Amino acid sequence: MSTPKVEIICSACGAESLLKRAPQYEGFKKVGETLSCAACGHVYADEAAVPFKRTGKPRVFGESDAPRAIRVFADDEKGKACRYCAHYVVNPFTQRCSLHRKTVEATDFCGQFQRQEAEDSGPRSA
Ligand SMILES: [Zn+2]
Repeated sequence: MSTPKVEIICSACGAESLLKRAPQYEGFKKVGETLSCAACGHVYADEAAVPFKRTGKPRVFGESDAPRAIRVFADDEKGKACRYCAHYVVNPFTQRCSLHRKTVEATDFCGQFQRQEAEDSGPRSA
């Protein structure tokens, strides 16, 4: 048998236990499986009734990690990104560099960066 061990927290006995799968026969014909708690033998009606134990890392870590990583990235780039440059011109359809007369991205960099004078008041997102 190569059935993987499935951890459950039994709803009947409350123990951290393993799910026991036993083939269910009607005569000689397999008609399904009996799902039961290995600790107390409580039988679950179907797969949906099984109180599977959640595995993997606790969610809190994953959720707090992602936004922080993005914020750090933004802070690092803040210094000389095009969006803080005096030559950066934004209109509803494109973002342009008025010095190089080309389309740029807010996060682009260039050697001719010139800090916006309006920077003193600070961008609202910062
Ligand atoms: Zn049990």
